[in-house]
Amino acid sequence: MKKKKQRCGNKKKMSNEQSLAFKSVKEWVFLSQASSSSSSALASCSAASFVVDDFGVQKSLVRGGEKVVFELHSHSKFSDGFLSPSKLVERAHKNGVKVLALTDHDTMSGIPEALEAAHKYGIKIIPGVEISAIVSPSGEPQEEEPVHILAYYSSCGPTRFEELDELLSNIRDGRFLRAENMVQKLNKLKLPLKWEHVCRIAGKGVAPGRLHVARAMVEAGYVENLRQAFSRYLFDGGPAYSTGSEPLAEEAIKMICNTGGVAVLAHPWALKNPAPIVRKLKEAGLHGMEVYRSDGKLAAYSDLADTYGLLKLGGSDYHGKGNRNESELGSVNLPVLVLHDFLKVARPIWCRSIREILAIYAEEPSDSNLARITRFGKNRILKGGSSLSCGKDLIDHCLPLWLTREEIVNADFEAIKLKLSSPPVNEERIQVLVEAT
Ligand SMILES: [Zn+2]
Ligand SMILES: [Zn+2]
Repeated sequence: MKKKKQRCGNKKKMSNEQSLAFKSVKEWVFLSQASSSSSSALASCSAASFVVDDFGVQKSLVRGGEKVVFELHSHSKFSDGFLSPSKLVERAHKNGVKVLALTDHDTMSGIPEALEAAHKYGIKIIPGVEISAIVSPSGEPQEEEPVHILAYYSSCGPTRFEELDELLSNIRDGRFLRAENMVQKLNKLKLPLKWEHVCRIAGKGVAPGRLHVARAMVEAGYVENLRQAFSRYLFDGGPAYSTGSEPLAEEAIKMICNTGGVAVLAHPWALKNPAPIVRKLKEAGLHGMEVYRSDGKLAAYSDLADTYGLLKLGGSDYHGKGNRNESELGSVNLPVLVLHDFLKVARPIWCRSIREILAIYAEEPSDSNLARITRFGKNRILKGGSSLSCGKDLIDHCLPLWLTREEIVNADFEAIKLKLSSPPVNEERIQVLVEAT
């Protein structure tokens, strides 16, 4: 009885600031659904029907007051997660997640599949990647620590994708060597683990990581579980540990900033010496750090974020391992003011990056520049665009999916559209792409 009263009390206490933040976050989250006329699933999931929703899973959102669930850290089979991007999205939907960032290690290859699946459920995807890097608080190599930097991009993806992809593919190549080294070290430790076994677990085209080595060790019966594989052999600096060819974290952060992303330090609690590292990364352009977990906000890291004026974020880091210790997808509770602060920083960055990608296309409306626009959402963009007759139509079709009307007006896309409206430059090209999907 008492509890109930308290909950009502809390609900009433939602301040004016919170209500405004909620309104603004919701407008962004339900942007593409509100502007889309297609698909029945979407129609029932529009902004207007959000509060009185018909999906059972959303009941809790309504009951717990006004809330939109963001999951900002998750992995799929494209790195070391166990679920395909589609399955991950399905699970996110079941858990009431409305915005999902897929942040596979050192690859964005799972994003198109995630976007496709998310469209069905009315979930918004933030294209992301978790970049493996190294950092040394003093610059001395003996103090080097591995560190993970999360990057969040606009729906259109990174600008200058090739530059980012080169950095990522170098890391992936390094991971092969690293995993090979780990297997060799294990073999020397009299654990005859087979390289083929590790590759088989990682799957075709996936760069094997420590978790894949650990899984192979469990399957081969050398350890009882993943935890044991790590605590005995594979921990940082452990007997079978090996470093790869990761870039400096500062370099990775600058790359994220230069390609229109938001850079966030992942799980700072894994660092031995977080304070000087956070200071160093802030200087390189870091926007935020994880301080929220499914067990709540971590005060020490929250203070550190405050000291350096960083966004306070967090996510479950869900891998779908299926063990009880793992935080569930969507289980990290991010307050609405936190989400609002995140979007306040991210949206102008994303808006600029979309503008840049479109401007490149307007300058030279080639197939390859069109592919930049449709990199992650090809089917989505072109399916609904069968009546597109010129580049301007394409832009008119895309922008409301990605940006609010206000953003579109403020960022002034008119010059870009004008360039593309006459003469109709690539009618045939768009037609070809539509037919191909
Ligand atoms: Zn990580
Ligand atoms: Zn992760």
